[in-house]
Amino acid sequence: MHAVLTYGPGDMRYEEIETPKPGPGEVLVKVARVGMGINDPTIAEGHWPTRSDRPTVAGHEFAGVAVALGKGAERHHGIASGDRVLAEQVAFCRACFYCRRGWYHLCERPQLFGLNLDGGWADYMIFPENSIVHRLPAEISDGAAIALESTSCGIYTVERGGLRMGETVVVLGGGFLGLIMVQVCTIMGAGLVVYCEDDDHRLQVGSSLGAHVTLSLRRDDVVAEVRRLTGGLGCDLVVDHGQTEAIELGSRMLRKRGRFVVGAAYASTNAPKIEFGAICNQNELTFIGRTMSGGADAACFARAIEYVRRGAIKLDPVVTHNLPLADFQRALDISRRRIEHAIKVSMTP
Ligand SMILES: [Zn+2]
Repeated sequence: MHAVLTYGPGDMRYEEIETPKPGPGEVLVKVARVGMGINDPTIAEGHWPTRSDRPTVAGHEFAGVAVALGKGAERHHGIASGDRVLAEQVAFCRACFYCRRGWYHLCERPQLFGLNLDGGWADYMIFPENSIVHRLPAEISDGAAIALESTSCGIYTVERGGLRMGETVVVLGGGFLGLIMVQVCTIMGAGLVVYCEDDDHRLQVGSSLGAHVTLSLRRDDVVAEVRRLTGGLGCDLVVDHGQTEAIELGSRMLRKRGRFVVGAAYASTNAPKIEFGAICNQNELTFIGRTMSGGADAACFARAIEYVRRGAIKLDPVVTHNLPLADFQRALDISRRRIEHAIKVSMTP
């Protein structure tokens, strides 16, 4: 079979390798579609460490068909051969403090597809025994399925922020995830959803997906606009997945006792200094971390599948591209540079 292998920083190759065989509890999946995750370009550039003992198959967003099941896998995962399936991006140890509480996304010994587990950028892949497998309903296309992981992350991010009905929430960029969070905030009853982005095409899509107000990070004084929209107070909640600069910017938009969910804080060389004393002590702001899409207690993934199946969360408008897997370098380029109005890029093995 063919696969994209990560050899090291900046060194990914499309090569022919042996098709894996499923061991006990494992599932062999014929991959139908893979996604360019938010992290894939950074992994490709070597900012996340992949395993050093051998090249790893890239890709943590994928969907396919179960074609062979190892001993006990049918019962263990609750699936049968021929089912359309996908797996969450983390496989967990089940034994650590966090796994035992259902917080497997915080596992002390996590295995991540595309990093230390072979991922989905291949004709076939293995879902290991300790992975979390979901069956795909017929209503969800392969193209939409590769965005379910992000949808689950979007639900978890907004819920971590404790959004309450009628509140004002600012979705601060966040790429593809931002457009999902716009929809989640609307469904969860936000009174006003303000979507801030630097890309005009994404702002248009955000508006069509339910954002009440869109603001350009390039042209608008977003802090002043959010204050104006809220009678000078500031917003209740900011949700973010981006650079460290966003934390400083978002903290200035919040009302006193406002909440900020930090979905990522990618290091930036020109990040402004944040005066935590001033923003936390005097304004009683709350900063909340968020990683991946929550564990068993959050059950975000199952709810993401259900909302997408019903059409309440729309993914097709944001999965803008589909390229052959062999063209992965071009897919990375399109995604990084956002050319051709790219939002989410997918590939077909
Ligand atoms: Zn664990």
